[in-house]
Amino acid sequence: MINGTEKPVVNYLTQLGTLLCVLLLLAPGISAQKAQRKRVVVPPPEPQITQKEIDELSEAASKSRATLIEASQTYRESLERLLALQKQEEERVAAIVEKDRGLLEMGLIPKRQFEESEQNLAEAQSKSAETQRQIGSVDHLVAEVRAAEELAKMPTLTQGATRSTAMLIRYVGKSRWAMTDLEKIDAFFRLKFGRVLPVSAFGQTATHSHLGFDHHDAIDVAVHPDTVEGQELIDYLRSQGISFIAIRGSIPGSATGAHIHIGPPSRRIISQQ
Ligand SMILES: [Zn+2]
Repeated sequence: MINGTEKPVVNYLTQLGTLLCVLLLLAPGISAQKAQRKRVVVPPPEPQITQKEIDELSEAASKSRATLIEASQTYRESLERLLALQKQEEERVAAIVEKDRGLLEMGLIPKRQFEESEQNLAEAQSKSAETQRQIGSVDHLVAEVRAAEELAKMPTLTQGATRSTAMLIRYVGKSRWAMTDLEKIDAFFRLKFGRVLPVSAFGQTATHSHLGFDHHDAIDVAVHPDTVEGQELIDYLRSQGISFIAIRGSIPGSATGAHIHIGPPSRRIISQQ
């Protein structure tokens, strides 16, 4: 039953691959055309590409981003269906554990059989937790695509500058970022809050690769920017000159996808091989 849900994901990925090819073709085309326009000192009677065409290309790229978000939601829905099946399986195995517990107490089954049932339950719970984690990862990714759209509208920030909107806080740090900086960020968080830094994505994850999103040089932390933990973490990152994008949610009024992305923005779409 569970395997039956994988086909829509594969089909969807195939469609997404096509979409990403379109994005890749569009993106350099727009910048190249803009550069070409800038180099022309004496304007020709008719520009090689009109503003209308540029607008149309930008609109197409924007539509592609919208399609990417839509595709991500389709992927999320397939994960939700998978999770529902895994939860059913979890309940079924949990009932067996309870039944075996009673049989063990009555001396009707060996302890080994009960332990096997417990092991099966642990495995079922682990599968559900992994799917739940993937769903969260898709939410973070969608939030980052929307954040990238918002960042694209902002003027380029200089080093040390911060910009805040209702959706996000963007800080461009002066420090040279390395993924190994995670160690000191985690140490700060443990010292401050007595728990491990809740990293939801370290670099490129399977979800990022499936959706064609380049996240190899960044870390996501599952804390809302407006919580005490979020505020303290943001202050610490700023004190260390570490760039981040703190995202309050993928859509206004909803905290879905809220997290703090540490490192450079991941707006580039990568091709799928
Ligand atoms: Zn991220």
